[in-house]
Amino acid sequence: MTRPDGDVPQPEAIRIEGLHKSFGQLEVLKGVSLTACEGDVVAVIGGSGSGKSTMLRCINFLETPSAGKIVIGNETVAMRPDGSPADRKQIERLRQSLGMVFQQFNLWSHRTILENLIEVPVHVLGVPRAEAVARAERLLARVGLSAKADTYPAFLSGGQQQRAAIARALCMEPRAMLFDEPTSALDPELVGEVLAVIRDLAAEGRTMILVTHEMKFAREVASHVVFLHNGLIEEEGPPEQLFGAPRSERLQQFLKSVA
Ligand code: ADP
Ligand code: MG
Repeated sequence: MTRPDGDVPQPEAIRIEGLHKSFGQLEVLKGVSLTACEGDVVAVIGGSGSGKSTMLRCINFLETPSAGKIVIGNETVAMRPDGSPADRKQIERLRQSLGMVFQQFNLWSHRTILENLIEVPVHVLGVPRAEAVARAERLLARVGLSAKADTYPAFLSGGQQQRAAIARALCMEPRAMLFDEPTSALDPELVGEVLAVIRDLAAEGRTMILVTHEMKFAREVASHVVFLHNGLIEEEGPPEQLFGAPRSERLQQFLKSVA
């Protein structure tokens, strides 16, 4: 996909350097470095257990890295030597600047869709309610869910719930979006409507890191593709190269296995 910004170098949005993460004896990330500039769509592919979710969760501070550096915009996350965050307030602020979308939607089941969208803006960020509602309604329209504003999540299909979750993340006006296999929990016939929303966000130049098993889609929307294997980047590059002429044998194997 041609990026709206053409070839003009863009500022960095997210950079990780030498990221390590262990759970006890298990070393899951073994030194991963990656940069997403403004407007980039970085697709992360790799087998189950390769560390994709852990990497994304570290970027969003849902996991504490064991070592490495994380830079959001021009702000380096202050870490103690053991990787734990030194400044909770900074973490809170930076986390709010990243919209995370999970495989399992994670909507609050006891709140309507509209309430799901305005909860954090109103009660955490202090956005005036009318303003938050207006923004939420605009975003619901964008993902095709205007009619569902007053509905509870359980009455929506999986595809609708995931579109609502994307709208909820957008309500935070994030600098970048992080998607962790956003279509993996969906029935096949519902995948397309969610991909259409993500495609739309990519086309408007949103920065995103997208972990996905949808290889065709990754090839279509990504500006850069990263193949993670066993906690390390095994190969990365433009989609035409990664999918069209993969160099590493592991990537070749992987692409065959998901074809
Ligand atoms: P992927 O998303 O690529 O499938 P994950 O990042 O979820 O991989 O997991 C990578 C490895 O880390 C797996 O072996 C998984 O079992 C392990 N892991 C992930 N989260 C935890 C955790 N909280 N505690 C212990 N092990 C974990
Ligand atoms: Mg995962």
